[in-house]
Amino acid sequence: MTEYYYPQRMGRIILLAMEEVLGREGGHSIQRLASLAPQPENLPAARSEKTFSFDAVSRLMESLEQAYGPQGGRGTALRIGRACFQYGLREYGSMLGLTQMAFRLLPLSSKFDAGSKSFADLFNKHTDQVVRVEQQAGRLLWHIERCPLCWGRHTTEPVCHLAVGLLQESLYWLSSGRIFNVEETACIARGDPACTIVIDKTPIS
Ligand SMILES: [Zn+2]
Repeated sequence: MTEYYYPQRMGRIILLAMEEVLGREGGHSIQRLASLAPQPENLPAARSEKTFSFDAVSRLMESLEQAYGPQGGRGTALRIGRACFQYGLREYGSMLGLTQMAFRLLPLSSKFDAGSKSFADLFNKHTDQVVRVEQQAGRLLWHIERCPLCWGRHTTEPVCHLAVGLLQESLYWLSSGRIFNVEETACIARGDPACTIVIDKTPIS
């Protein structure tokens, strides 16, 4: 089976976000449960080499469910996803042009289009994750066609909660503090062709 990877920098972001949400000990125990040897003093370096396997990402997500139960694991993964966005913005924001004033001043609908495209490009060009953005009336569909979060898993429900949290937080940031409905409606782990996250373009608040 082909091995797919995230860059080391992204693995580092996930582990940092996990520690922020669960505390140091909590983060380390999830790493142990996922059979990743925790290296407290040396997180993976923020480098672009692709070394953080999809298999490791998926095992981390599964370990959250084992440690906290399906509901607790879901809530935790959502929070970790939100924290990932904040770390990710620091690492990749300027490269993506998202932190430039010209972008900040765009109307919300243009930010949606430009932001989703450059966010998808980040994954497609710099990682083995494959993302396709589909625009529909009033909605944006974020199709993850090769997904690290549920890699190799078989489940009855969608399980890529980290991606939902990541997108929720990116929309919150993009819109200067509004909440949007974001839901995973299809998941490869459940036998669907892609992990599909549906975003309503009209904010709830
Ligand atoms: Zn998935």
